[in-house]
Amino acid sequence: MKARAAATFAARVQLEGVTKVYDGAGALNGVDLDVKSGEIVCLLGPSGCGKTTLLRVVSGIERPSSGRVLINEREVAGPNRFVPPESRGVGLMFQDFALFPHLTVLNNVAFGLKALPQADSLKAARAILDRVGLLDMASSYPSVLSGGQQQRVALARAILPRPAVMLMDEPFSGLDVQLREAMQEETLALLRETRATSLIVTHNPEEAMRMGDRIVVLRRGRVAQAGKAEELYHAPADLFVARLFSEINEFPARVRGGVVETPAGVFPAPGMEDGTQAVVCLRERGLNLTVNGNGGPGLPGRVLGVKFLGDSTRMDVAVAGFERPLKVRVDQQDALARGTEVKVGTAPGSVLVFAAETGT
Ligand code: ATP
Repeated sequence: MKARAAATFAARVQLEGVTKVYDGAGALNGVDLDVKSGEIVCLLGPSGCGKTTLLRVVSGIERPSSGRVLINEREVAGPNRFVPPESRGVGLMFQDFALFPHLTVLNNVAFGLKALPQADSLKAARAILDRVGLLDMASSYPSVLSGGQQQRVALARAILPRPAVMLMDEPFSGLDVQLREAMQEETLALLRETRATSLIVTHNPEEAMRMGDRIVVLRRGRVAQAGKAEELYHAPADLFVARLFSEINEFPARVRGGVVETPAGVFPAPGMEDGTQAVVCLRERGLNLTVNGNGGPGLPGRVLGVKFLGDSTRMDVAVAGFERPLKVRVDQQDALARGTEVKVGTAPGSVLVFAAETGT
């Protein structure tokens, strides 16, 4: 069995009211975040929401415009103090892996241990290469490695100095789907062994759910919601978060007396004033279809189309009272033929009501 990677002193990472303004525009607009020692947090959000900027501010590559960053309760960036990246005990891994093409795999990995005598740094580099299964490639150059092998080298290089904090910017986006899953598992195992507090940037909700103890959803430089995957799925704070974690049907409705009336029933619209324009969301997975349900509960409907999607099948169902067909997602074996007459019901927890989005 291969040796386990040595453990690190894990560090707490805190951001307090961090802003970063570029050319008058806010890339970060007041971010508060408290990452526990050894916790793995995924930063999730669409392009341009500030994920990379947040990593750069934590690493020290960028200074915040205002607010503070603390590592183990020590201010590393703030109004009166700025600790440079090399003194923060952080490891960085970039999307493109950024390996040095003119150095062998072994020297790429040993690069982060320049402070040690060469014999020691090479010994440590060999040990970590063995851990990631690449010792036999030690004297190769990066150009002959596959994407997955390059990812492992980059990971080994970042983790070898045993950073208390690991910052990873889209570390799997360059890998194909099959390889990605294997590398996610391996990376997770290595991060757990070293107990490094980790911030991983991704724009892929599934990856965030797979990797993160907690997920922080960023939007326009703000934290839209932070929590465990289950919390974000079951109780999304707004429409934006709901769309990230669930396939949904959306339709507009007006709030009256604290509820919205829809063809599928009356649903509470908590905290929304009368007259508010709302969006009602029906999860595609939360619509139940019953065949031969004549006289039974549910709205009458008819299957208009069936789409095989591998792990699931999606049906378009015309439902009484709805202007447009509803999308219904089921396991493949539960798919119905086009033209089937059905009764449509909603499962508990499958209906969400939010205020309609304003602005862009
Ligand atoms: P992506 O997923 O596309 O990498 P992101 O969420 O990582 O996006 P950031 O790279 O943090 O987003 O960028 C946030 C905003 O700040 C964007 O509007 C971007 O154009 C702007 N920005 C980032 N870096 C700079 C810079 N060095 N100079 C000027 N504007 C910048």
